[in-house]
Amino acid sequence: MVAVTLRSTAVAAVLAALADQTRATCPSRFSWEDNVLTKAAIDSTNNAELFDFGPVEGTPVSSKIIGGIPRPRCKTFPGDALWPSTSVWNLFNLTLGGALIKTVPLAAPCYSGWPQYNAAQCEYVKTNWNRPQLHVEDPTSAMFPLWQGQTCMPSDHPSQIYDNCTLGGYASYSVAVIKVSQIQLALNFARATNIRLVVKNTGHDFADKSMGAGSLSIWTHKLKDIQYIPNYTCNGHSGPAFRLGSGVETEEVYRAAEANNVTVVGGECRTVGMAGGYIAGGGHSPMSSLVGMGADQVLSLDVVLPNGRFVTASQSSYPDLFWALRGGGGSTYGVVTSVTVKAYPQIPVSTLGFAFATSPNVTADTFWDGVEAYTTYFDTFTAAGAYGYWLIVNIGPGQFFFSMNPLWGGNMTLAQFQPLIQPFLDDLADLGIPIDPVWNEYPSLYQAHSGTFPPENVGGADNRAASRLFPKDNFINPAKRNETMAAVRYAVEAGGILIGYNIRAAPNSAVNQTNSVNPAWRETTGFFLLATAWPADASTALIQSQSNILTNDWMARWRQVSPGAGSYLSEGDINEPNWQQSFYGSHYLRLLQLKKKYDPTGLFYAHTAVGSEDWEVEGQLPGLPTQNGRLCRKP
Ligand SMILES: Cc1cc2nc3c(=O)[nH]c(=O)nc-3n(C[C@H](O)[C@H](O)[C@H](O)COP(=O)(O)OP(=O)(O)OC[C@H]3O[C@@H](n4cnc5c(N)ncnc54)[C@H](O)[C@@H]3O)c2cc1C
Repeated sequence: MVAVTLRSTAVAAVLAALADQTRATCPSRFSWEDNVLTKAAIDSTNNAELFDFGPVEGTPVSSKIIGGIPRPRCKTFPGDALWPSTSVWNLFNLTLGGALIKTVPLAAPCYSGWPQYNAAQCEYVKTNWNRPQLHVEDPTSAMFPLWQGQTCMPSDHPSQIYDNCTLGGYASYSVAVIKVSQIQLALNFARATNIRLVVKNTGHDFADKSMGAGSLSIWTHKLKDIQYIPNYTCNGHSGPAFRLGSGVETEEVYRAAEANNVTVVGGECRTVGMAGGYIAGGGHSPMSSLVGMGADQVLSLDVVLPNGRFVTASQSSYPDLFWALRGGGGSTYGVVTSVTVKAYPQIPVSTLGFAFATSPNVTADTFWDGVEAYTTYFDTFTAAGAYGYWLIVNIGPGQFFFSMNPLWGGNMTLAQFQPLIQPFLDDLADLGIPIDPVWNEYPSLYQAHSGTFPPENVGGADNRAASRLFPKDNFINPAKRNETMAAVRYAVEAGGILIGYNIRAAPNSAVNQTNSVNPAWRETTGFFLLATAWPADASTALIQSQSNILTNDWMARWRQVSPGAGSYLSEGDINEPNWQQSFYGSHYLRLLQLKKKYDPTGLFYAHTAVGSEDWEVEGQLPGLPTQNGRLCRKP
């Protein structure tokens, strides 16, 4: 026994020395991350029970029993006897230093029943509703109002169903966090009061995973710090890196990288939160075909755990959490406060834009032959580091339009890029498909990104989307390619809108790719999104029918031609069948074990997030899983 004690003491000393060494070489946290809650501070308040930490992670906790009495099956909801009184909310606000915001729906200025009614402000909201930034800057709004329940849209709904404005799926309160202690207080308060908790960053998630009725929301938008570390030496990386607050948006990072002559891996969308849902979901990028996924670039993350404790996750600290936070989905294992990512030298980027369509000289079959010709190059292009972002729409019976927005050659001059792409353009010419190619060469990712990608359009309740990560063999093997293209054409002919990416998650020995990114990403060269749309005044029955067709007809055919493949959890079908396999693949069981370890009572919940199968939102219509009901554990 004594010998064992001595040995473990010696091991502990070595580990402590190693930890000190890590601390000595790893950059320090942001100053607001040093503002942490202590047990002593909680105990010194009169209401310690509202703000106390949860059990240390890994401690066995029953999800059903607490203190010998059954845990309530449902989260406490506004109107319940146990919902905190106004004085408790006031106390909470005081404790937070005034950071609590009672929700006023973004479009409330359009409704005379709200004190915020204001015609000019309403006009502003109406005009900007489709711009992501409007929703990014609001504490509770997200970009897919269908899942909020459309209970407060900015325009008069044509059917006049929605004549008043209610919270629907919006959170009841938000905490506009600017320091870690506020996140800890919010988590502890939500746990103590049994209130639903959500985390909202920008609101980009296709399933509105950052909202929920009757919830307390942690709004990370103000965590905007960006620190460039030219000589980072830590966590197995020596070289340039960025530490990013979790509210930082993609374009802000691209701009910082440009100013420092380096490149970072980020998405195509300007306003997505890099250190929030983007990295948590895996994160695809115009850089992915060159260096891998966004999540692959992470060196460490700082995170407030569901029990309220603040830790660093890296390959040497909480390695299991480090694995899960890089691909296992947001709002599951804690609130990430900042992320440190590897940066690369600045690279030239060459781009190509063009479009083609059916016409008297281009039949529908020829059009689709042109699309198929492109897919035969998917492997070659991505192996060379290229990436393509394109669109196909049905413009009338038997008529189609293809737009390349752009084809992107990362780390390629035009002299290198053009010969790579020319065989594909020759194929189009051989098919008699005329195009007017626009070539460009840019000195950096930021300039190429600004010069090429179209602005995003969000906020519509008249469409929804699903996605598939087609394995590369679906485009290499001619028989599979035929089947795949038939399934793709079927969906577009039936009215589906296709947004395609020719992309791969490049293997990269310079980063740690042992993470929880959906393994389907490692196999794909074709990530296809498929949207269905309906008229603005469509009845609920029509929306349900269209929605059902998307999932159970169009996408069923896509799944059939790619058995065992997957879908991207951040841009997926809200009704994805067998979502555990589709969104997380073979990682699901391990992710679920870690969920139970770090969040045994289910403080964090989001639709299709790991562990969410134990929960349901009450009052949903079939096929339309809005977030505007009470969250309950399934019986
Ligand atoms: C127009 C558009 C373009 C897009 N382009 C791309 C692209 O190019 N590449 C790509 O990979 N994806 C893209 N996406 C998808 C996007 O990456 C995901 O929606 C992502 O989850 C957004 O993260 P967010 O933090 O910005 O948004 P949110 O919707 O606020 O959050 C998404 C999820 O992450 C959780 N979350 C957010 N912050 C934190 C945090 N700090 N800690 C814990 N959980 C958190 C939320 O609770 C929610 O569950 C796009 C989406 C849209 C709408």
